[in-house]
Amino acid sequence: MAEHTELIRRLADDFTALEEAVLRQANGVCAAETAAALEDPALVGPVTVVLAHADVLARGAVRRAELAVQPAERLRRLRAQARTVRRARSRAEARYKKERARRLGRPRPVEPLELRVVRVAFPSSFHEFLRQELRGRGLPDGSPHAPESDLARWAWERARGGGEVPAAVRELLDRDDEAFVQALLLDAREEENPLLPHDAVVERWSRHSRTASAWGRYAIGQAERDVLACLPTARRTRLDALDDAYQDAAVLAARSREAHLRVADLHERMQACVASAPFAEVVAHCRTGALARFRDAQPEAWRRVRDLTAKHQADCSEQADGCRRCHGSLAQVMADELTGRDEGGEGEFSVASASAHDDRYALLADLPDTAVVAVADAALGEDSAVCGYGWASETGSTGHGDSMAASSGEAEVIGICAAALSLLEHHQEALVVLLCDSTEAVDAVDSALTAADPGAAHRTLLFPESRELMARLVRHRDRVQVRWLKGHVGHDLNEIADACARLALRRATGRIPASMARKEAARILRTFGSAQRQSSSAA
Ligand SMILES: [Zn+2]
Repeated sequence: MAEHTELIRRLADDFTALEEAVLRQANGVCAAETAAALEDPALVGPVTVVLAHADVLARGAVRRAELAVQPAERLRRLRAQARTVRRARSRAEARYKKERARRLGRPRPVEPLELRVVRVAFPSSFHEFLRQELRGRGLPDGSPHAPESDLARWAWERARGGGEVPAAVRELLDRDDEAFVQALLLDAREEENPLLPHDAVVERWSRHSRTASAWGRYAIGQAERDVLACLPTARRTRLDALDDAYQDAAVLAARSREAHLRVADLHERMQACVASAPFAEVVAHCRTGALARFRDAQPEAWRRVRDLTAKHQADCSEQADGCRRCHGSLAQVMADELTGRDEGGEGEFSVASASAHDDRYALLADLPDTAVVAVADAALGEDSAVCGYGWASETGSTGHGDSMAASSGEAEVIGICAAALSLLEHHQEALVVLLCDSTEAVDAVDSALTAADPGAAHRTLLFPESRELMARLVRHRDRVQVRWLKGHVGHDLNEIADACARLALRRATGRIPASMARKEAARILRTFGSAQRQSSSAA
């Protein structure tokens, strides 16, 4: 048993040893003793970290072999290994989720049913009364839900005894986002930064680890392009550079996973703090006080809540469990009664969906006949930032190309900008309207055009390629519009744009030779032509 514990401790402390053990297990060649140690709950989180690392490396090995034009048998083996690692990773993630649910699943005390019904059925009045209670006690606003609310953070700070963070941690926290991401890249590529796991830093680390990983994919994309730029026989040095980029990306993936684990741990500790004395009592008093205020302010609604809950509890099978899940349906009954009486109440349910419905059919009705309408789409690979984009306009023109993107949102913005810039050039007078099915991309472009500032889209746009395109497009802001493509409008164009984008990605990543790509593009255009003829003869 002591040996067993010793092995677990060694695996928890040694990244390489744990990764080797996990891969041996995935390949079915692991010693029984090690396999038993890997089952220990203490290793459930760390196993997901090493598999995040191994997963990227396994795909990197496949990619290298593809570009080095290896014998088919070797490529097949590497692909099989990558699938094995991917499966092991999914299993480990599922196990981690289960383990975490088990830890968090400890039954929590249930609040009185009336209170829960009031809170759900009358959210804004209840929260206002709760605010009054909190203010009366000199507490910050918010719900006592860790980690989202100020109130929970306030409790957490107090439980830790406040206290200043060390100067080095403060310095790290004071950096702007870009400098902070640089610190994460340095952490992954040069030397581990011991300050990142600090409670005061770990949430920011986790939040920005996605951006750091995106720069890892950017490096892979650049290395991939360098490899493809030369003949298969002269690729060796450039393939080594691609390997290096994959190694860095693997460390970034592992560190990102680790950041998430540490944040989950911090939030568990916060929740435990909020749910225990003395804070839990304070919150319970505030809620009871808020409920009393509700009772005084809305006696009729309160009477109805009491009647409903009493009637419900007379014959509910889950009453012994405190009716943990019953408040939702009771609150819905209250909401339905209120909207039924047409007093509005707090029922905000029906308004939003009605206007969304109207929008759908009004998408293009306001445009002048001369407007040039086009649909843009994009496709993005998994490890590399290389993306493809494509577009098709109602005038029959199409286009496609490739670029670098950190997210599908960024890739779609690149497609919108490239399409719009091309159409603006060819239609000197007309209004150019781009449709796209990504709300993130449409919002990003729209906010940049509205503000006349490409910087307004910087939350979505990370890489220089997209920022440069956006800056060019903003100069034409008077002649460009972008709209979200919904449902049936422009469906054919959307399919053409999608096919063009996927073709561009395959072309840019060397997965289809140039001659075949040209034939494929011609085929897409022929389909486009026949679709257009059909729609004009139907009209
Ligand atoms: Zn019940």
